[in-house]
Amino acid sequence: AEIRVCRCSSCRASGAGAVWAALSEDISAHGLQVRLKDVSCTGQSYSAVQLTVAAAGMTFHYNRVQPADVPAILHGHFSPDGALAKWRWQAHGAIDAIYRGDRCPCQESKPDAFAEKQCRVVTEGSAENSPADLAEYRRHGGFEAFIQSLAQSPDEVIDRLVQSGLRGRGGGGFPTGMKWRLAHDAPGDCKVLICNADEGDPGAFMDRMLLESFPYRVIEGMLIAAALLPAKMAIMYIREEYAQAIRILEKAIACCEAEGLLRLLGGDFQLRLFTGAGAFVCGEETALLASIEGFPGIPRARPPFPTHAGLNGLPTLINNVETFACVPWIMRHGPAAFAALGTSHSAGSKTFALAGKIQRGGLIEVPMGISLRELVFAIGGGVADGHDFKAVLIGGPSGGCLPEALLDLPVDYEALTQAGAIMGSGGLVVLDERDCIVDIAAYFLRFVRDESCGKCTFCREGLNQLCDMVEELTRKSDSPHPEAFLDEIQALAEDIQRGSLCGLGRTAPNVVLTALRYFRAEFVAHLAGQC
Ligand code: SF4
Repeated sequence: AEIRVCRCSSCRASGAGAVWAALSEDISAHGLQVRLKDVSCTGQSYSAVQLTVAAAGMTFHYNRVQPADVPAILHGHFSPDGALAKWRWQAHGAIDAIYRGDRCPCQESKPDAFAEKQCRVVTEGSAENSPADLAEYRRHGGFEAFIQSLAQSPDEVIDRLVQSGLRGRGGGGFPTGMKWRLAHDAPGDCKVLICNADEGDPGAFMDRMLLESFPYRVIEGMLIAAALLPAKMAIMYIREEYAQAIRILEKAIACCEAEGLLRLLGGDFQLRLFTGAGAFVCGEETALLASIEGFPGIPRARPPFPTHAGLNGLPTLINNVETFACVPWIMRHGPAAFAALGTSHSAGSKTFALAGKIQRGGLIEVPMGISLRELVFAIGGGVADGHDFKAVLIGGPSGGCLPEALLDLPVDYEALTQAGAIMGSGGLVVLDERDCIVDIAAYFLRFVRDESCGKCTFCREGLNQLCDMVEELTRKSDSPHPEAFLDEIQALAEDIQRGSLCGLGRTAPNVVLTALRYFRAEFVAHLAGQC
């Protein structure tokens, strides 16, 4: 018998650590013949802490478990002498109470609705595999794609990536196969590989979840790339706040070293963690490179692109966590299987962090091309507490606010860009009718203003000014020329987009521009003193 509990950061925040401690104590106190297993997350943050009892070929799921529930659950499945009593779960009153109450998985949270429209590529094996158990990862085919890639030519590997249609999942959407080819073809014997795990969007936790639950999948994608370049040094750039992900990665890298996997790339190959101090701008490739080199995280003009002159001037391939995590699946299942999951221009799957005023918040993985409506209503269960949907903010602080009329928009790089938003790395925040769009725009503008590195005038001064104007608008009443004031805001926002050097400045005005485009009446109402 086995009891499975996820102890990722989200589940810990809901009390998974205390539930684990209560389980350990009771299991040893009663001498139960049961293994307590740490498993990867299902992404169902809304029903954490989740616990699964697997015994006698059956599995029983419990949602929103608290430490006080543990004795009843254990007593329901196991007799006092420690033997498995599989019939007891049906008969025992305490267990029935858990199933009947508001924590009943089948009556209340409809886990099937949450899972039905999802697919499992980077989250394959969720709720089953132990995140840091290398032997288990290998039993399920882990590192086979890496070992096979050692016998393949770089062209073969790159061709498979190109055919898969994989695009960078960090936000830019640059074709991954093309990027790998550029880095491979760049002149130079000494090349570097970097995984960008500097996830900084408010409301986003895709990379954190992947690293905490599926570290070997990300490492395997990195090793495939390192073999192809070839690179002598691979670096995982991760923000210091991700303490648990760092602990798991340290253990995973040590296990890979002990198993001899890194030596397959040559005795001098190194895979290192580098912790960043949490500046949002360091998610930008050239700022990230400067940060590793020991300089302030300030972007520089491109070209030269990092693939030709990156870390310390060496050719450097940089991809984000989810991009690397897709690679082993593509190599094992074939590029056609990956391409078949998405649309003609946006292939494969994408993870999203569902947050905000949503019933079933958490981490999901869906095929590209799914509509925003399906994300919010079919998977997320709609707006929480019976309130009305107002907007969805997609793409983080540099994304866009999309209204109900655009809910049938497919999740696709080009479709979202046309609507004024961006895919971003996968943050998705739902707003209800009580949320003020002007306040939301002001909040995200303050965030990007504070995170600007200050190098360019338009980003440094323009965002400051734009922020002041939108904040003024949240206080203003009875303006004589409301339309002219809004036109000024729009013109400044567009100037910032045109005059900024890096993605932060170029996308920072997206929230206010989409808010103006789709919710202009709300801005006018503010200026008329009606809000
Ligand atoms: Fe820095 Fe902003 Fe210029 Fe980017 S656009 S380099 S964040 S000032």
